Amino acid sequence: MPNYVYSFGGGKAAGNASQKNLLGGKGANLHEMTHIGLPVPPGFTITTEVCTYYYGKKHTYPPELMSQLKSAVKKIENLTGMKFGSAQNPLLVSVRSGARSSMPGMMDTILNLGLNDATVEGLIEQTGNPRFVYDSYRRFVQMYGDVVLGMKPESKDDSDPFEEIIIAKKKLRGVETDTELTADDLRELAGEFKDAIHSRTGKHFPQDPEAQLWGAISAVFGSWMNDRANVYRRLNGIPESWGTAVNVQAMVFGNMGVDSGTGVAFTRNPATGENAFYGEYLMNAQGEDVVAGTRTPLPMSAMEKDNPKMYAQLMRVRKILERHYKDMMDIEFTIQQGTLYMLQCRIGKRTGFAAIRIAVEMVNEKLITPADALMRIEPEQLNQLLRPIFNTEEKSAAISEGRLLATGLNAGPGAASGRVYFTAEDAFLAHTRGERVILARNETSPEDIKGMDAAEGIVTSRGGMTSHAALVARQMGKVCVAGCEALQIDNKKRVMHIAVPHDTETHYPHLAAHLETVSDGEAKRTFIRINEGGFISLDGSTGEVILGEVQTQPSEVLRVLIYKTLDAANSPVYKIYERLMKWADSTRTLGVRSNSDQPDQCRNAIAFGAEGIGLCRTEHMFFGGDRIDAVREMILAETTEGRRAALAKILPYQRNDFLEIFRVMNGKPCTMRTLDPPLHEFLPHTEKEINDLAKSLGISPETITRRMDDLREVNPMLGFRGCRLGLLYPEITEMQARAIFEAASAAKKEGIRVNPEIMIPLVGHVNELKSQTDVVRKMAETVAKETGMKVPYLTGTMIEIPRAALTADAIANVAQFFSFGTNDLTQTTYGLSRDDSNKFMPFYLEHDILPRDPFQAIDRDGVGRLMKIAVEDGRGVNPGLKLGICGEHGGEPTSVEFCHTLGLNYVSCSPFRIPIARLAAARAALAYPAKKSPRTRAAATKKKKAVRK
Ligand code: PEP
Ligand code: MG
Repeated sequence: MPNYVYSFGGGKAAGNASQKNLLGGKGANLHEMTHIGLPVPPGFTITTEVCTYYYGKKHTYPPELMSQLKSAVKKIENLTGMKFGSAQNPLLVSVRSGARSSMPGMMDTILNLGLNDATVEGLIEQTGNPRFVYDSYRRFVQMYGDVVLGMKPESKDDSDPFEEIIIAKKKLRGVETDTELTADDLRELAGEFKDAIHSRTGKHFPQDPEAQLWGAISAVFGSWMNDRANVYRRLNGIPESWGTAVNVQAMVFGNMGVDSGTGVAFTRNPATGENAFYGEYLMNAQGEDVVAGTRTPLPMSAMEKDNPKMYAQLMRVRKILERHYKDMMDIEFTIQQGTLYMLQCRIGKRTGFAAIRIAVEMVNEKLITPADALMRIEPEQLNQLLRPIFNTEEKSAAISEGRLLATGLNAGPGAASGRVYFTAEDAFLAHTRGERVILARNETSPEDIKGMDAAEGIVTSRGGMTSHAALVARQMGKVCVAGCEALQIDNKKRVMHIAVPHDTETHYPHLAAHLETVSDGEAKRTFIRINEGGFISLDGSTGEVILGEVQTQPSEVLRVLIYKTLDAANSPVYKIYERLMKWADSTRTLGVRSNSDQPDQCRNAIAFGAEGIGLCRTEHMFFGGDRIDAVREMILAETTEGRRAALAKILPYQRNDFLEIFRVMNGKPCTMRTLDPPLHEFLPHTEKEINDLAKSLGISPETITRRMDDLREVNPMLGFRGCRLGLLYPEITEMQARAIFEAASAAKKEGIRVNPEIMIPLVGHVNELKSQTDVVRKMAETVAKETGMKVPYLTGTMIEIPRAALTADAIANVAQFFSFGTNDLTQTTYGLSRDDSNKFMPFYLEHDILPRDPFQAIDRDGVGRLMKIAVEDGRGVNPGLKLGICGEHGGEPTSVEFCHTLGLNYVSCSPFRIPIARLAAARAALAYPAKKSPRTRAAATKKKKAVRK
């Protein structure tokens, strides 16, 4: 009989941490914590298979479930000595969702289940605390009404019907906070809630605990398909088919008085990675109060001072968890009358910054190996080390100008400056208009993720470091300031106010336009007012919110690598980066090169760790200085002589550029590609440009427009471009080859080693390559004769047309190397214009027609298949064939992994993505160790030879 229910409790558990697919993340870890002796209230997990069944079979359950569930409830009863539904000694349970991968706040939870008009009496008898019992009851009715019976507010801007009842009650009693309401008030509230449910939904709140339990289980399974869960899954690539598990667990109460409480904590700081226990708690509260951000919780340091015994228990748990899981953990706990209970643990979400620091420091602490560290850091997280920070001087100036509005919690590091919007929808729309956006909310809710995704930074006036805003922002890698209470945000009126001293205008007259004075009875209060669309800046590392724009500046890592600021070289951030990259380089077998066309780009590339240039688009050099005129003259020439004369003017420029590149690259391989784009891309566009050009060339504007008409193509990307240019006008290739060889010999004369690789673009037939290679070889000989100096070089081709991939064996007889131009290869394989696909690609992605944009991540089944054929057939006839990739995919982690498995020699990407490619290559080598790339094979042979010697 299939087992759908897994019990845990009393030191025994049916499952363990490895069963996330079946038990969900929360469930699997509850079982694991029980195994390792942590205090977990007993319970059971209903598996994800039941969720799949539920959706596959029209919202019904496997027939076995009923009896399995009953016996699991019995086990909890035996362990706790309580009885579900008993009026004397009632067992109360929580019902929580728990998917394989955490989806914070996206699905539903119900607490205090089992309470009804009879069991409340039993609980009062037991606890002697009617206030606590009625508080639990009204919370339960409220949650049950929300989640199971459909009492949710109709729109985000609608007020919560339960909240309205509570507000009315407080008004009636003349009190301000919930805690001032009496037991009788709370009892009345529970009754009023039940009436409200009935009058609004027509449904009765069920008194039968078993009916409550089934209702809750179905609601949790139902929440797997709610809108926010769907959006979250799409954004995070979580398949719908995974389903969620449901955890039912004996309740423990953090709201049982002053010796009770609840909290969330991380075993290390999730924002900075610092090795310090980090968390928040509230005494006399239930978990939802902490997460929802309605009361601002206390930091752990307060517990250390006020309740050292409790703190010591938590520190012990922290140590056990880190030793066991060997990672930074995120925990939820409840203290019931002085006793600690663990309600959840999971691998803690963290900023990219913290991920890197924690991984590196855990290697230092010998908790994990360097390989573990590499596998724990998502390559894209490195971006967070390369993120801008505020220009220090500008920020200090802003502060001295009185523009520091407030300081909140530094929930997500980095610096962001943009226009403020107060709803997720407005933020999203402004982003689509191309604005840089800051989203300001009182607190965020899961519905806000679309707006959070669109924003550069997020600021909230409520909530702590573990509030929804903080968690989700960190996960998205967004700058975030949370709990900034000084901001009075009015989401409806789209405005925010910050109270300032009366004399602000006297001290800071330049702020006058932002100031607003409001009469409050006798008193007058002054505020800074910020309307929708106004600029603010957030420092997510310090929690500061600043009025207006503040310039950002490069991170420590950038300062060392690119700006050569030596003081940053000793910064902990840079040291961590350096260590990680060292491990990555000693692990990876794929080479990493750069797509760079200018000497300064090549310098950056080397600073980021490039081992060569994988693509120098020589046409980019045509735009520098006044050479564009000569290029245009060449294009407009109608005879070979005319073209040669113009090319002779371009030659010295190209030679100088190449020479400087050879100097910078100092012996590292440099792949120089001959002219590729359609010629009209170089021609003038405006009438003025045409007239100016005509004047400088001494021809009429009409001649230029006529020639432009001749060159106009219906489909230029498939037209007169690539090697076709060099075939019809070999003098272009001759000039470029001459420039390369002359520069190479000049460099060699300076004592610099050179290693040029000359690459012919857009080859579809071997004869195209043969003809162009002949031109290059002849020029090599000519220059060698002229200079009396031979330079080593390779000739090869881009593989960017399907026919080239399919005839790779013939082409490999001529080419010494292939470089996959996956931009064009994707374009030509899919028949999808790389310049126009954004018109329909978002639709394709949203409707799951394509799993990912193939221009970002290699389409392994189509484009990848062609690459595989080219690799196998090319190496089949030419085993020494060098293979690389220079399309944009060369810097995208999943594509880098694919290139590793294909056995390419290197990937090539833009300079700022090189660290990402290095890490991705190391991870690929760890994930696919058996697949030795040619680079390791060559290294192994070298080693063997050395041993033999
Ligand atoms: C390519 O097509 O992948 C490529 C690198 O060339 P370009 O982007 O210059 O067409
Ligand atoms: Mg191309």
